[in-house]
Amino acid sequence: MNILVTGGAGYIGSHTCVALLAAGHSVIIADNLRNSKRETVAKIMQIAVKEVAFYEIDVTDSRAVDEIFMNYKIDGVIHFAGLKAVGESIEMPLDYYYNNIVSTLVLAKACQKFNVNKFVFSSSATVYGDNTVPFVETMDLLPTTNPYGETKSMSERILTDTAKANPSFSVSILRYFNPVGAHESGLIGEAPNGVPNNLMPYVTQVAKRKLEKLRIFGNDYPTVDGTGVRDYIHVVDLAEGHVAALGNLINGVHTYNLGTGKGTSVLELIKAFDQANNIKIPYEISDRRPGDIASCYADASKAKNELGWEARLNIYDMCRDAWRFEKNHK
Ligand code: NAD
Ligand code: UDP
Repeated sequence: MNILVTGGAGYIGSHTCVALLAAGHSVIIADNLRNSKRETVAKIMQIAVKEVAFYEIDVTDSRAVDEIFMNYKIDGVIHFAGLKAVGESIEMPLDYYYNNIVSTLVLAKACQKFNVNKFVFSSSATVYGDNTVPFVETMDLLPTTNPYGETKSMSERILTDTAKANPSFSVSILRYFNPVGAHESGLIGEAPNGVPNNLMPYVTQVAKRKLEKLRIFGNDYPTVDGTGVRDYIHVVDLAEGHVAALGNLINGVHTYNLGTGKGTSVLELIKAFDQANNIKIPYEISDRRPGDIASCYADASKAKNELGWEARLNIYDMCRDAWRFEKNHK
C-alpha cells in the first residue's frame, strides 16, 4: 500500500517508516521538520535500503495536503504529526490546539475528499487520566491535566464522529504508553531539543555526562518503591504495532493500547540501565512533578487478540538501544 505518514521524520514516525518499508509498503512522508531533521529521512532510506517520498509541508495546510493526495494514490494515512511536550502545551495552549486539532481535521477531510478509508492515529495513554491501572480501552476517559492530553481526546472524538458518519471509514486509534529505545542500527532514535523532559532521554544524557544527575520526581507514591511506575515500550515494537494495525483495519473506530502490560518504576529503570550498559546513574530524590500520576500501565490484551501484535523487547533491550543511539548521536 501507499502510506502517507505525517510526522514521519519524528521519533516514532521514523521507526514506523522503517517497519512499513520492511513490510513491503511504500511511504510518503509529510513533515514540517518543526521537531525533526531532514537527515532522518535519509537515514530511514539507509536502514530500509528503499526510497521514500518526502514533502516538507505543514499538515494544517489543506492545499499542501491535497496536493499529496493528487500526486499519489494514497491507500492509508498514519497521522503522527503533532506537538507533544506537556509543559509547553500549558504555556502555548493555542499552538497546541491549533496544530494538533487542525491537522487531524485537514487529514480526515482529505481522506473523505479522495476516498481514502484507512486511518491510523497516534493517541496516548494520557487520555486515561488517573484511572485505575491497568488501563483498558473500555474505560471512560478522564480529563487530562494539560492541553496536550486534551488534543488527543478531542482528535479521538473527531475521528470517531467522522467514522460514524461514513461507515466505510476505518480508524485505528493507538494509545501509546511510554515509547523509549531506538533502532538497533543506532542511526535513528529520540533526540529532544534542550533539556529532556522524559525519563529515558534524561538518563542517557546523564550517562553521557551532558547532565550531572537525575532528579527523581517523588519517592512517596503508592508503588513498589515509591517512585512513579510507567509502561515503557521499545519504539521498534511500537512501530511494528502500526504495521499490524494497518493490516487489520475494519470499518468503524477501534482503539488499542500499545504497551507491554508491565509497569517499571523509576528506580527499576535506573537499575536496568546499569545492568544493560554497566553505567551507574547518579540521582537525587526531589519533589513530585505537578500533574504526574503514580502508575500508568496497559492492559495490552486487546492488541494481542485482535491485531496479533505484542511487544517482544524488554526493559534491558530498551536501555541498551537508547544508550547506543545517545552515544552515536552528536
Ligand atoms: P516527534 O516530535 O519526534 O514527531 C512528530 C513529528 O511531527 C515531528 O517530526 C514534527 O516535525 C512533525 N510535526 C509536528 N507538527 C506538524 C505539522 N503541523 N505538520 C507537519 N509536521 C508536523 O514526536 P513522536 O514522539 O514521534 O510522537 C509522534 C506522535 O505520537 C505525536 O502525535 C505524539 O503526540 C504521539 N505520542 C508520543 C508519545 C511519546 O512519548 N513520544 C506518547 C504518546 C503519543
Ligand atoms: N521522571 C523523573 N525524573 C525525570 C523525568 C521523569 O523522575 O527527570 C519520572 C516521572 O515522574 C515519571 C516517570 O519518570 O514517574 C516517567 O516520566 P516521563 O516524563 O518519561 O513520562 P510520563 O510521566 O509522561 O509518562
